[in-house]
Amino acid sequence: MREIRVRFAPSPTGPLHIGGARTALYNYLFAKKHNGKFLLRIEDTDQNRYVPGAEEYIVEALTWCGIHFDEGVGIEGPHAPYRQSERKHLYFEYAEKLINEGKAYYAFDTTDELDAMRERLTSRGVATPQYDYLSRYEMKNSLVLSPEEVKQRLEAGEQYVIRCLIPSEKEIVVNDLIRGEVIVHSSRLDDKVLFKSDGMPTYHLANIVDDHLMEITHVIRGEEWLPSAPLHVLLYEYFGWQAPEFAHLPLLLKPDGNGKLSKRDGDRLGFPVFPLRWVDPKSKEISSGYRESGYLPTAFVNMLALLGWNPGTQQEIFTMEELIEAFSIDRVGKHGSKYDPEKAKWFNHHYLSSLSDLEIAKLLHDQLVGKGIETDMSRLIKIAPLIKDRITLIPDIWEQSAFFFTSPNVYDEKMKNKVWRLDTPDMLNSIKKFISDQNDLSPEVLEPALKDFIQQSGLNMGQVMNTLRLALVGSAFGPGIAGIIYVLGKENTIERINLLLSS
Ligand code: GLU
Repeated sequence: MREIRVRFAPSPTGPLHIGGARTALYNYLFAKKHNGKFLLRIEDTDQNRYVPGAEEYIVEALTWCGIHFDEGVGIEGPHAPYRQSERKHLYFEYAEKLINEGKAYYAFDTTDELDAMRERLTSRGVATPQYDYLSRYEMKNSLVLSPEEVKQRLEAGEQYVIRCLIPSEKEIVVNDLIRGEVIVHSSRLDDKVLFKSDGMPTYHLANIVDDHLMEITHVIRGEEWLPSAPLHVLLYEYFGWQAPEFAHLPLLLKPDGNGKLSKRDGDRLGFPVFPLRWVDPKSKEISSGYRESGYLPTAFVNMLALLGWNPGTQQEIFTMEELIEAFSIDRVGKHGSKYDPEKAKWFNHHYLSSLSDLEIAKLLHDQLVGKGIETDMSRLIKIAPLIKDRITLIPDIWEQSAFFFTSPNVYDEKMKNKVWRLDTPDMLNSIKKFISDQNDLSPEVLEPALKDFIQQSGLNMGQVMNTLRLALVGSAFGPGIAGIIYVLGKENTIERINLLLSS
């Protein structure tokens, strides 16, 4: 059996949108599932749209997601180079071959002449005026000009393009693994440009030639490429090559389902649409990323996987290995999937709260370092289990634990008015004494002991707990009191009680 080989072939025109990340992920899962290879090819033939930093961004984003490629830019492989601009020398001979076989032709039309052609067709009532079987014989190309004139023009260095000669009467069948048979009549296609006189192929030619040379077996890409697929199928036929299988993935939709998810939706509704933060090199505009917003790559990947694919069961939580195991193209839906920002948070909460205490402690440690707060790991490991269930995004780890690092300097007025009574100072003093008498502050021991003490002293449980919380946190916030005392330790707990007493 042929080895399964798939590729992710982004153009470095900006940061990778989550739709692109999903395409990469599905390719990766498909390759791994079938013990195949996943390639990263950079399609940078359109120099006008090239954005510096975009390629590095794409590689970094894939690496963050844990989507590793077997061949591609940076790591190379048997079909190197994997950057189309470095393969430039390869493409002309293929365009020339098509010309020699009468399947493509030189065209010398200027922009003005192309505009005039469109106007002419429009005035004749043609709905989609384009360079095709209707118009090509009225234009300046090697189908019309004599061979001598074509030769002269080429030798004189005149600007030209090479266009694909599309047959006028042909049903082109694209077999799509997701959509089934898509039949397009060739009369609807235009004679697409395959090669330009700047020595660069267009996307269509380079894509087909490279997929062939790189032995790609399955082309899994976004739905926006479906209109190009008939031309690609025709080109495979023209070259006499076996076409790969196609699978066009449905769009990622806005949360309300009305149209394609765009960066503007993210800005408007407050969620990132890019895996990593991106600073536009020209405008300096900053776009937020999942990584910087505090998402774990495991959560991001799990969420992405289910945006368009479903396992056919109720299971929602998947590791990468489980996704590889469960993934199949048959279970990718035909219809667009609505992006749900709340579900993304749900996944992140799940993955964050499933981390070990040490892992959470490390994340907290990184945040403390950023804030210039020094502390030892053993304290952070004590904090981790207390905040675990209260964190959705990584910055919440700091927000949920900030009070451990600074004593309250203001108290919630409303809460204070509610809990404070004449005998509160006596009560707090007796609690102070109780705490300083304890040998073991671990919550399992302290919590029942504190409760016993409160009961035996005839104090009101709710009132004591709320007052203690006011002293230790400053407000009605935070995990259980015993846990807080455990982390703060005797000295700091008593210090904070004194602080409230003297406020
Ligand atoms: N370079 C195209 C893109 O930017 C690739 C499309 C394809 O996978 O064929 O998405």
